[in-house]
Amino acid sequence: MVVDIILNKALICKGHLNNDLYVLKQDDSSLHHIESNKRIKLSPTNETYLWHLRLGHINLNRIQRLVKDGPLSNLKVESLPVCESCLEGKMTKRSFKSKGHRANEVLELVHTDVCGPISVQARGGFEYFITFTDDYCRGL
Ligand SMILES: [Zn+2]
Repeated sequence: MVVDIILNKALICKGHLNNDLYVLKQDDSSLHHIESNKRIKLSPTNETYLWHLRLGHINLNRIQRLVKDGPLSNLKVESLPVCESCLEGKMTKRSFKSKGHRANEVLELVHTDVCGPISVQARGGFEYFITFTDDYCRGL
């Protein structure tokens, strides 16, 4: 069984199933863009960066350890370019400063929240529930 690992319509790696383990192909060092079943080779790329993508955005030290320990022994380690996904993952969001509008009487402001689908269905086959919280008394 052959497996393709695709990210943002680009083929980043191929592999095959061997004794219940997916073995990644090491020799295909290019990204391929997949569009309407046509594979167009993208510009030649940094193979170290490809392994960074393939292995869940691991850092350069871990890649170097894989090279040293053997699994990526054929890889010529290059420096990693700026990875947009890694930067986004490290971004934080500031907390809200103001408390916003609070209600002064019952039913002036009601917060709703829909939850679902839930993997285990409730009696009757329901997979969603909704909550209504009155802002004034905070009761459901
Ligand atoms: Zn990354």
